Amino acid sequence: MYNLKKIVRPNILALQPYSSARDEFNGVNATFLDANENPFGELNRYPDPYQRELKQQLSNIKTIPTENIFIGNGSDEVIDLAYRIFCNPGTDKALSFSPTYGMYDVSAGINNIELIKVPLNNDFQIDTDGLETYLNDDQLKLIFICSPNNPTGNSIASKAIKYILNNFDGIVIIDEAYIDFSDTESWVTELKNYPNLIVSQTFSKAWGLAAARVGTAYASSEIITLFNKVKPPYNVSQLNQQSATKTLQNIDLFEVNRQLILKEKKQLIESLNQLHQVIKTYPSDANFLLIEVVDANKTYADLVQQKVVTRNRNNLIENCIRITVGSQEENNLLIKALKNLEQ
Ligand code: PMP
Repeated sequence: MYNLKKIVRPNILALQPYSSARDEFNGVNATFLDANENPFGELNRYPDPYQRELKQQLSNIKTIPTENIFIGNGSDEVIDLAYRIFCNPGTDKALSFSPTYGMYDVSAGINNIELIKVPLNNDFQIDTDGLETYLNDDQLKLIFICSPNNPTGNSIASKAIKYILNNFDGIVIIDEAYIDFSDTESWVTELKNYPNLIVSQTFSKAWGLAAARVGTAYASSEIITLFNKVKPPYNVSQLNQQSATKTLQNIDLFEVNRQLILKEKKQLIESLNQLHQVIKTYPSDANFLLIEVVDANKTYADLVQQKVVTRNRNNLIENCIRITVGSQEENNLLIKALKNLEQ
């Protein structure tokens, strides 16, 4: 039986969080002499610790109550906070399906948590046979499911995700960093059915704000309260919050750019498939493509020589390179550089 209190680290449950000046008084139009700020300048005041305006906008767009929204300094902060809230260093475990996003592993290492890596099958899907032993391990607190998955690009079948949600009493984080490029529905709509579900998303990809560092987590209000308790008080700067709220006001531009990227992706797949050295282009629900080539190390290095930088994933998937879908001009440069290698 899922019981949040049993999954949270006891010291986090007992923690008295820092009470910032903006926690104790959050009215407006007052004389603020409470936070040792500088009275002069434009960025002299601390930002809203709970990013209320941004959450309200997200709430309207996604029809999710603000109490179910957490804003992080990128979604990488969501990953790190999840370890710190749910996993006792040195004893608890987390699980991910490899190959996948590298920060689950790095963050586990930083927090001294063992990360179990269950391999995806040949179609890069989760094989639920044999998962039961892991799911019944009391020390397993967190499961990361990246969908669409980085670096493979595919979405994880909902049947396998449902199996995990229904058979695991710990926390399941579905990382939807690339969801806006996919036709599959977000798991956000399932939050009310699964109290142990956290869905993370980001402004870094389809919203085009990687430099601003704004990520989101959607979950039960009880889980969001824990994230707010553990996060640094002012984890998202005023500038970051403003860039996100401004971007959300222009959904038309978001859609135009998203469609452009999807159109370019289609074109890029066609161009890549015409090249002799490309053995396979994997299906992708994201804004990147995983391709198999004859010799990934060589192709990667030859492209770098021509100042085209891709991601060599040979150490994760033999002879595979991950390519971000760029602008038409950038994609043409990539194809031209690959063609140069064929001559
Ligand atoms: N999740 C996945 C699957 C990613 O690929 C990335 C970034 N590459 C992130 C999370 C982190 O995104 P950010 O911290 O920029 O929100």
